[in-house]
Amino acid sequence: MTMTKTALELDFENLDLATAHPFGISSGTTVASENVLVKLKYGDITGFGEAAPAHYHNETIETVNAVLETIREARILGDDPFAIAEVSNRMDKVIAMNNSAKAAVEMAMHDVAGKIAGVPVVSMLGLSGLKAPITDFTIGIDNLEIVEKKTKEAVAAGYKMLKVKQGTSYDRDIILTIRKVAPDLPLSVDANGAWTPKQAIEMAKFLCNHNVLFIEQPLPKNAHKEDFRFVREHSPLPIFADESVSKSHDVARLAGCVDGIVVKLAKTGGLLEAIRVIHTARAHSMQIMFGCMIESSIGITAAVHLAPLVDYLDLDGAMLLAKDPFHGATYEDGYLKLRDLPGLGVTPR
Ligand SMILES: [Mg+2]
Repeated sequence: MTMTKTALELDFENLDLATAHPFGISSGTTVASENVLVKLKYGDITGFGEAAPAHYHNETIETVNAVLETIREARILGDDPFAIAEVSNRMDKVIAMNNSAKAAVEMAMHDVAGKIAGVPVVSMLGLSGLKAPITDFTIGIDNLEIVEKKTKEAVAAGYKMLKVKQGTSYDRDIILTIRKVAPDLPLSVDANGAWTPKQAIEMAKFLCNHNVLFIEQPLPKNAHKEDFRFVREHSPLPIFADESVSKSHDVARLAGCVDGIVVKLAKTGGLLEAIRVIHTARAHSMQIMFGCMIESSIGITAAVHLAPLVDYLDLDGAMLLAKDPFHGATYEDGYLKLRDLPGLGVTPR
């Protein structure tokens, strides 16, 4: 096969995503997420990617747009759609951090490469056939009446696992409300960095008595690793790090200080580094949850291709939207099923 040299062309536009309901976490409440849609053209093939800016890394749609403009101006993409690792290295050389923007480009490259190869990304990565875990559904911070209503709706919708946001003055009441409606449903807790070590240990004891599986990010993002170790040593529940871990070297740094980590494409800058994060965590006997931002089915589906590598999935970002502009992995009885299409398997609705 002769391939004429075709340049990869980067195009992008803002993607405003309204949530179906206000979504609260310890740092504030969201009614919409401003993301950026990437369209990567290679001849007549278009690959899709999505950037969901992480506010805790000071990313906004403006920073994402500026980074994508730089990637385009600096001619970083070249003409080999399979040179994904190389493009990723080049992006890191030219631009520090800004991982959600890089992730959008990197997932779009996987989409293009899969479409050229005629196989889904999961097959291209050699991961087809492995079974992925179920995904949870997240209950945001709200008053107890709404928490009760949301939990009832989640149970009625048949969700197999719940996650609840914490970091309020009434955290215990939130748990009691959920447990009143759903006494046995697997449940995890995410404090998004809201607790001190002392609060975290006290809460861990309480949560353990209410059949919670693990606690995500009890301490602030920049908490000292010895504080994580202290909480871990005194907590009856496993402690996971989310905001404190972006890249594989962050996982290595927290070895022995946490029981698990949360990997997200918006933090790793793409699928390849997400795989390295996962293997680094495995090498340190850590558990792994694949998480997401509030994003459309593009970002969520990109993560689903790596889902067989992890223990827990928190990929409900598109389910929280009022309207998902893309069709991708579909939710079926707890599981996220990829569509049998080449590349990421996402199409505009
Ligand atoms: Mg989290």
